[in-house]
This record gives sequence, C-alpha cells and structure tokens, in this order.
Amino acid sequence: MTIHTLRGFRDLLPPESDIFVRIETAAREVFALYGYREIRIPTIESKELFVKSTGDTTDIVEKEMYAFTDQGNREVAVRPEGTPGVVRAYIEHNLSQTGRNGKYFYIGGMFRAERPQAGRYREFTQIGAEHFGNPSPFADAETIAMLVKLLEKTGVTGLSVEINSLGCAECRKTYRETLLNHLRLNVSTLCEPCKNRIERNPLRALDCKIDGPALAEKAPRLALCAPCAQHFDRTRALLESSGVGFKVNPGLVRGLDYYTRTVFEVKTSALGSQDAVAAGGRYDDLVKSMGGPQTPAIGWGLGLDRVALLLKDTMTETGPGTFLVSASKEAQNAAFKLLGELRAAGISADFSDFELSLKSQMRSADKSGASLALIIGEDELKTGAVAVKPLKNPGGQRSVPLSDVISEIKKSAF
Ligand code: ATP
Ligand code: MG
Repeated sequence: MTIHTLRGFRDLLPPESDIFVRIETAAREVFALYGYREIRIPTIESKELFVKSTGDTTDIVEKEMYAFTDQGNREVAVRPEGTPGVVRAYIEHNLSQTGRNGKYFYIGGMFRAERPQAGRYREFTQIGAEHFGNPSPFADAETIAMLVKLLEKTGVTGLSVEINSLGCAECRKTYRETLLNHLRLNVSTLCEPCKNRIERNPLRALDCKIDGPALAEKAPRLALCAPCAQHFDRTRALLESSGVGFKVNPGLVRGLDYYTRTVFEVKTSALGSQDAVAAGGRYDDLVKSMGGPQTPAIGWGLGLDRVALLLKDTMTETGPGTFLVSASKEAQNAAFKLLGELRAAGISADFSDFELSLKSQMRSADKSGASLALIIGEDELKTGAVAVKPLKNPGGQRSVPLSDVISEIKKSAF
C-alpha cells in the first residue's frame, strides 16, 4: 500500500515547477517597479476572520472553506484567500501609521474544498496585491495596469480585462431592494442555494455560476450615485490613457462581500469554465468593518496555477552548464575540486558518481542536459588538463589546461 496525494492536491514537479518560479520572478520584478513590498501572513487564521470579511453568504465561506476546531478548542480556518489576512495584519500592526505607501504583495497557497478539475484545485497559489490608503481613481488605474503588466511579463497571451463598478454602500442600499424585488418575482427560476440566500444577500445571485448569466441579461442594473459614477468615469479614462485594453461588463459582480466601486477580472478563453485568471476590486469599507480606521483600499488576486496552465507549452527541460566526469580513480579528487571551483566562478556544474565507470558517468552526462562534459582521467592528471566535450553538438572534444578551463568556458569558447 502506497500513500498518494489527496484529491484536488498535487505535486508540482520540474520542469512544471520552473514555470511557477518564472511567474513569481516576473511578479516580484513588477512589484518592485510599483513600490510594493512583500507581506507573509499565516496559513491558518481564526475562522471568524473569513466569515466577517469574505462574507458568510459567499461560496468560499459557505461551501469551500477548510475550517476545523483545533486542539485548543479554537474555531480556525485554512486561508481560502489572502485579503482578509492582509487586512487583519494592517490593523493589528497599525500599518496606517507607518507613513509608508500602504502597498503590499503576497505569494502563497490558498485552500478551497471545491470540485477539482483542470485549473481548479483544492490547494492553489495566488499572487496578490493590496494597496491601502488611496481613494482616488489613480490607484484603481495603477493597480489594474500593474496586473496587466505582470501578466504580459509572464508571456501569457489572449487575455481580456473586464471592469465594472459596484458603487458604494449608498448606491447599493437602493439597488438591493430593487434587485430583491426582481428576484422574489422570479424565485421559481433560481437554483436552490440562491433561493435560500437572496433574502440575506441578493447580489450573490448575480455572481452565481448557475443563475448569474441569465440574470445578468434580465435583472435591473445598479445606478451609481454621482461620486461613484465620477470615480468610474475617471478610472476608465485613466486606463485608456495608460493603454490598457478593457471592456465594461455591467454583469460583473464578484463573489466576495467586501467590494465597493471598481471591480475587475482578467479572463482567458483557453481554460473552459476556469476562465478567471485574476480578479480584484476596491474595498473601501473593509478595514473599518474589521475594526480598523476608515481606510480606502484596492487589490487583486491572481491564480498562478491557471497562468501556469496557459504557459505549459513554453515548458523546457534545462540542464547544468557543465557535467564533471572522473575517468580514473586517481582523478576523483581533482574532479571534485574542479566541481567546487566551477560553482564558485558562477558556472553551474553537476556530476553523477565519480566511482562509477566512465561509460556510466558519460551516460548520466548525456541525460543531464548539460552543454559540456568535463572529463579528467589519468592523462589529464599528468598534463594538468581537462578534456572538454560538447554534448549537444558532439565531435569537437579538446584538451584545455586546467588553469584556463574556467575562463575558456566563460568566454563561451565551446
Ligand atoms: P472561480 O470563479 O474560477 O471560482 P473565484 O472567483 O472563486 O474564481 P477568486 O476568489 O477571485 O476566484 O480568486 C482569484 C483567482 O484565484 C481566480 O481568478 C483564479 O485564477 C484563482 N483561483 C480561485 N480558485 C481557484 C482554484 N480552486 N484553483 C486554482 N485557482 C483558483
Ligand atoms: Mg471560486
């Protein structure tokens, strides 16, 4: 009996894991350009954090959260998303008082008990950005433009950006009633979960995977108050002048409770119903509702696993630059020493087992994907040389003095 990964969980093996590293590296570079710094938050938090912030009528909290009572009888949850933890940290450490720019990013695993399929896992990685303290449309335009830049930098193509405005608490109060009336009149057409939650949260029906598409066509539309309309107009104008392509989707609602004003999603047509690559929005009331000072904020989360799926064709097996082979017992120590010297000089180097036969070591060298095999045997020991054999275009083996080998490799003389 062997033990396997749990359903919905997976191992990321090389070279697939290389794609993840590549995306993370691109993200870190872009974050640095935009003045974001990394925050690392716990994987497990009190369950109440997510119930209060993500919202108790959301799919995430209602159906997907891994929550349990721990050994100390505390109700805890494994984080299903990053924003609640970052907001908690922002309040807990008084980050509004630092005088800094309020920009944080995170990269980490999120956990949701949903039905696994391609692009939908129970543990997945999100890259997220949160910007606190800036209420202006410039922050909206900047964060969306940054997300687009980041995605461009990963090399992924064929994405589209959709944006909408959900207005503020004031606009929504009136809309809530209008929408609720419409839903009550059409309640027989709704799915069971929506029937049960429209009284508590009518907006949720618009985001429902079953009812949402039909409702988006027929349901009354939210009318923005003047300041919200102005904010949305300015955001769109700024995005246009930044050269960010987008389209307004009035049906875009987002499945979390805390959004206000601008919401957005980046979509692909290549992953079936897992079409959302990244999503986010403004959440001007969340910090206050979680017990902090009134603080406007905006952020997004990007599904790294989905971007990686889109980049799967670019996956390549890489090997070290050089592979060391010892052709005789006497040369083992010299080969081991050269291995260390190459690495110290910044040249990647690997080996298999100097005690194996020359033939076996050369087989490993071929399989390693290295560009060069460096072979030291009895003759080389006597003459103080190394046999350098190109592995990818065979034939040009030559002998190089040991003292020159590093500079020759660096000069790409092979
Ligand atoms: P979906 O509509 O696909 O369920 P979501 O609205 O639940 O997405 P968010 O909570 O906004 O997603 O999370 C942001 C991003 O995280 C998504 O756009 C997606 O790329 C990614 N994501 C969400 N859930 C999963 C999952 N189970 N597996 C892999 N990636 C996911
Ligand atoms: Mg979901």
